[in-house]
Amino acid sequence: MPVFRKGEVILFSRPYAFALYESFVDSTCSFCFRTQGDGHDFAPIECHSCKVYKYCSDECLRLDQMDHWLECQVAKRKLREFPSIEARMIYRACLRYMREKQTQQESAEYIFGHKRSIHAYLDHVDKISTERREAFYEIVDDALDLVSSIYAPDRELMFLMLNRIAINSHDVICPKNWSMGRAIYMAGSKVNHSCEIHDRFVQQFFGRNYAIMALKTVEINSVDDLSVPYLPLMMDVHARQKHLKDNYYFDCKCSRCLYELEHPTENLCPPDYIPQLVDALEEDEQEIEFNADYFTLCKNHLGNLSSVADYDYYKHRLLYNAMYVSFALNRCPEGIYFGLRALRAALSPMDCEHILVGLFNGMMSAGWSKPLHPKFADFVSVLRIGSDYFTTVRGPGNSIARDMLKQWFKVQYHIDALKGEKIEVSMPAALKRVGAA
Ligand SMILES: [Zn+2]
Ligand SMILES: [Zn+2]
Ligand SMILES: [Zn+2]
Repeated sequence: MPVFRKGEVILFSRPYAFALYESFVDSTCSFCFRTQGDGHDFAPIECHSCKVYKYCSDECLRLDQMDHWLECQVAKRKLREFPSIEARMIYRACLRYMREKQTQQESAEYIFGHKRSIHAYLDHVDKISTERREAFYEIVDDALDLVSSIYAPDRELMFLMLNRIAINSHDVICPKNWSMGRAIYMAGSKVNHSCEIHDRFVQQFFGRNYAIMALKTVEINSVDDLSVPYLPLMMDVHARQKHLKDNYYFDCKCSRCLYELEHPTENLCPPDYIPQLVDALEEDEQEIEFNADYFTLCKNHLGNLSSVADYDYYKHRLLYNAMYVSFALNRCPEGIYFGLRALRAALSPMDCEHILVGLFNGMMSAGWSKPLHPKFADFVSVLRIGSDYFTTVRGPGNSIARDMLKQWFKVQYHIDALKGEKIEVSMPAALKRVGAA
């Protein structure tokens, strides 16, 4: 009976193919996804040939050379438009697939005894709707157009790869909560979806690598004992059902979905207001300019949504962005206010993760970490949850965990003085609210 203790790695998986979003290409190593300003600065090395893609070391540059070849050829032409992330994923996956086929060295990963290779990916070619099929061929043909003069890839292979990528790939989340790219994992893609809210284990990204980490002692006997959400758990049941059906071709019948279909969640954002929010939240958060206008926009929307619960998916994202923009404008008390609301409404450890980092930094800047500060108790709560969480899932050497632990040792002596004070924030409370803890 395999038992995993708190902080142990249950599953580790390296990507078969991966690509950065355009906005990250300048600041992030295209091979290992190490990001500048992430506690481990590096002087980026350019790809010698295209001078567009960057690497953190000669080693990463060398290791990426073969998979990078097609995107490099495109980049060298300095086209006005950058190829889409799907196109680059297709290039990289096809190059690897062809190479491994030629050399008969097919890569594989193992997960609880199951071998996973490229052939194990789901593709559901038979279930694709006509519109989706057309949209996919459009992406494939655009990708082909860019390379047809130098390479003659198989259109059908590219189409099949795109299908696999669409169904099996993950957003790779950087420590700052942005999704910095996409990656398709062999072992990682074997893990099924569930909307269930729990605190037994959590998925994490280490650069471009994927892991599932135990948050407490758990017994995992097979891959069926593992599941991860393929979408944000705060989405309401109808949005989740639609998203899973459209993108992964299945009707989710998890216990949470069944319960919520019978018992509609109250106080959600009115459907006719959602388009405005989607606009404000942007598909690609990287494109948001966190300035005074954006701050006003967030506040106005939050004002209009005062009767909507903070756990509403859109409102929650708005709260998070309001926190972020407040800190960017040095309006710490407001940022903390929005952040604490977001933290209290969060459903899962994953939802709390980035809020905790924002709150920790914001509270430090606002002086809440000083024992005499009237809000010191709230700081300690955030610190207690944050340092435990990040030490567990990223290890004590991680830069966020290290910063938090350092503070923890600093304030430890003052914590006794807090006895009897009400500490309001806690992750288990967020979990209890939905009956998961
Ligand atoms: Zn690197
Ligand atoms: Zn290049
Ligand atoms: Zn479900």
